[in-house]
Amino acid sequence: MNMLDGQREFLSIIKSIRSYIEAEKVYGISEVLIPNANAVKIRRTKKVSKAELLAVIRNEVFNCKRCSLHKARRNVVFGDGNPNAKLLLVGEAPGYEEDLQGLPFVGQAGKLLTRIIESIGLTRNSVYICNVLKCRPPGNRSPLPEEISVCKTYLIRQIQIISPKAILCLGKYASQAVLGVDDPITNIRGKDYDYKGIHLIPTFHPAYLLRNPNSKKYVWEDLQKIKRIISEA
Ligand code: SF4
Repeated sequence: MNMLDGQREFLSIIKSIRSYIEAEKVYGISEVLIPNANAVKIRRTKKVSKAELLAVIRNEVFNCKRCSLHKARRNVVFGDGNPNAKLLLVGEAPGYEEDLQGLPFVGQAGKLLTRIIESIGLTRNSVYICNVLKCRPPGNRSPLPEEISVCKTYLIRQIQIISPKAILCLGKYASQAVLGVDDPITNIRGKDYDYKGIHLIPTFHPAYLLRNPNSKKYVWEDLQKIKRIISEA
C-alpha cells in the first residue's frame, strides 16, 4: 500500500466512525468510555422517534454507491409521508419526475395513486410511500435483480421502523421483492400475505392502470381489503 492509499483508507475509517457515532446519538447513546481498551457504552434513556430512525437510513441512502444507479441520479428518492402510518405503499423505482423532485410518485401515476389513497378515506400525508429502488434506472428501464438485491435492505429497514398495519405493494417488482417470489403479478395480486406480522397485499402499479384502465376494478377490490385491515387495527 502506498502513502496515498494509506491516507485514503485512514480518511475512510474516520468517515465510518463519524457515521457510526451519529447513528448512535440517534439511538440515545451519548458517551463512550474506553477504560483499559474495553469500550463501555453509557446509554441514556431517550425515546427515539420513527422519524429519527428513518433519518439515519436516509442519510446512508443519500451517500449510497452500492450499485451503478448512483452515477446518473439527480436526486435520491428515499420515501415520503407519515413515519407512524398504518399503511405503507411500495412502488418499484423513481421515474423521470421523481428523480427531478426527489419525491416518490409525483408524475401522472402519482396523481392516480393519490386518488387511490383518497378513495379509502386516507390522505397522502397519513400514509408512507417509498420504492424498492431509491435511484432512477436510466430511461425508466425495469430494475435489475442485482439492483433490487442490494437496495432492498433499505426498504426492509424502512418497513421495520414504520411497522405499518398493512403494506400495499404496487406492481410486480415491489411485490416480488418484498415477498421474495418470482410469480407474475396476476398470480399474487389481491391475496393477503403475512409479512412478519404485517398484512401485505400486492396489486397493480398505477402506471399499469393508466395503460389498462379496465384493471382498476381489481385494485378497487384490493383496496377494500386494505380499508378493512386498517379500520380493524
Ligand atoms: S439504487 Fe439503492 S443501492 Fe443503488 S445506489 Fe441508489 S440507494 Fe444505493
